[in-house]
Amino acid sequence: MADEKKVKHVLGISGGKDSAALAVYMRDNYPELDIDYFFTDTGKELPEVYEYLSKLEGYLGKPVLRINPNRDFDFWLMQHNNYLPSAQARWCTIKMKLKPFEEWVKPYLDDGYTVYSYVAIRSDEEYREGYKSNNENLIVKLPFKDDGIDKQSVINILEHSGLGMPAYYSWRSRSGCTFCFFQRKIEWVRLRETHPDAFEEAKAYEKNAVEHGSPFTWSERESLNELEKPERIAQIKADYEKRLERAKQKRIANPLKKDEEIDMDELYGKSKVCLACHK
Ligand code: SF4
Repeated sequence: MADEKKVKHVLGISGGKDSAALAVYMRDNYPELDIDYFFTDTGKELPEVYEYLSKLEGYLGKPVLRINPNRDFDFWLMQHNNYLPSAQARWCTIKMKLKPFEEWVKPYLDDGYTVYSYVAIRSDEEYREGYKSNNENLIVKLPFKDDGIDKQSVINILEHSGLGMPAYYSWRSRSGCTFCFFQRKIEWVRLRETHPDAFEEAKAYEKNAVEHGSPFTWSERESLNELEKPERIAQIKADYEKRLERAKQKRIANPLKKDEEIDMDELYGKSKVCLACHK
């Protein structure tokens, strides 16, 4: 008898809204696919992310597999001379997200499987980077793009499923590490208020890095010590309120958009999104 075709379906959950909605969408619309959901865990994620993963597992009726890097952040930090990762030197994503995924799927590819990886790029987004593989048997699929699912549809999917948005969306726009350098200044201020221990840990990493000559601080052009000065916090909050007010005025002027949520991208301009960490 001929071998059954070896096929594996995988879907990476980042802790963000888009990948969670894609998992829900695939379960509801393509129940015939046996998908392995996975989460690459840096060990430095927000507690809200773990809570959301548990809720999602309940909805999916199966576990979200945890893939841990074989070495933790502290190990890789030492390997990089204690220099903090940054948008210019993003070793963290490679070592703690992409490599563990590659190592996880490698045995299947070596064994002749075709692996379909479902990625949550929406129809209102461009697909620029993403996971690219040299292996022709690892195939990236973009169901949201193919099926015309945009940002509002993603929010609707999560609302209708009963999961709602991840809890951290009330104070921060992205999943990923507590100390992610893609955070805006206002999000650092809110991290300090919401998870003071995580903020202190980020400060300690930064102090150590600066003492070792790191060219990068977590946040652009200032250390967290400077950012947490009361007058600086007041300035960052005032700037946020000003931007929010301006966005609200624009909403009034455009009734078509009046019910749409105002997000950080709208206030501060689009920042880079990492598919592995933030989708
Ligand atoms: S969430 Fe941010 S800090 Fe963490 S691995 Fe991704 S890019 Fe790096």
